[in-house]
Amino acid sequence: MRRFTVPTVQAGHAIGVDLGGTKILAGVVARDGTVVRRHERITPQDSQQHVVAELEAVVVELLDDSVVAVGFGAPSPIDQARGIVVRCVNVPLEDAPLRDHMRERFGLPVGLDNDANAAAIGEWRAGAGRGFDDLVMLTLGTGVGGGVIAGGRPFRGGNGAGAELGHVVIVHEGRPCQGACAGRGHLEAYVSGKAASAAAREAFGPSADAHRLVRLADEGDVQAQELLVEIAGYLGSGIGSFVNIFGPQLVLLGGGFGVAAFEHLRGPAEEVVGREALEPMRSRVRLAKAELGTAAGLIGAAFVGFEAADV
Ligand SMILES: [Zn+2]
Repeated sequence: MRRFTVPTVQAGHAIGVDLGGTKILAGVVARDGTVVRRHERITPQDSQQHVVAELEAVVVELLDDSVVAVGFGAPSPIDQARGIVVRCVNVPLEDAPLRDHMRERFGLPVGLDNDANAAAIGEWRAGAGRGFDDLVMLTLGTGVGGGVIAGGRPFRGGNGAGAELGHVVIVHEGRPCQGACAGRGHLEAYVSGKAASAAAREAFGPSADAHRLVRLADEGDVQAQELLVEIAGYLGSGIGSFVNIFGPQLVLLGGGFGVAAFEHLRGPAEEVVGREALEPMRSRVRLAKAELGTAAGLIGAAFVGFEAADV
């Protein structure tokens, strides 16, 4: 019987690690986006040292001879020049030189990216965005993350920390933004799952949240449907501007709330996009739902690892 040994650089795998507020999701990912193996751990909340130790532990758990690179996605702006996680939302990790640390620790190429960029890269390489050179992805979860693929490459702006699409102003002097963001009227304050939960509580009482809002709308509740139309209007304003800037063929909605509410949001958001976006961008774009679910971030992070290996 003949046996085949695969590991060349082309055939190699990357480990993708998606650091979230509650869990660290990781996997060994092939170049076609297939997740070969998975591992997950709880995100520590007590100290930076503990978070870094757990990130190392997931890599150790998955590491084998086929692995040629490691990529990390973190809920933070990334200083790409210095390889630093600037400041995470909901995770005690700040000003952390993760890239050099992990390179030294594992002796492999290491890539870092914002978690929403990673999700966009995951969908582009292995999900709903396959085959598109220009796409914008918005992840509507607790916050609003943004990722852009422009001209067949991830767009990260001048210092590598873009594209924070959730923090564009859609209402001058509008609602205060969430978390550590001191801005006002940002998209995130109107279309995140957290914003939807607040609207649901106001309309239906203290036990309602975004999930309940979507469920009620699914069941035909007119007030719930109207609230989602209102959220979709703000979303359309944001997307219309992104379409005017990036001219994408595709705008993907991901994240827990974005996927759950997609059928309610799409129509009214497209109506606003049709008004705000200019030709020829307007006719070229369509809205679609992300496909990879919670795996998008780790798959994308693995491709950020491949990117570091291929330089
Ligand atoms: Zn903001």
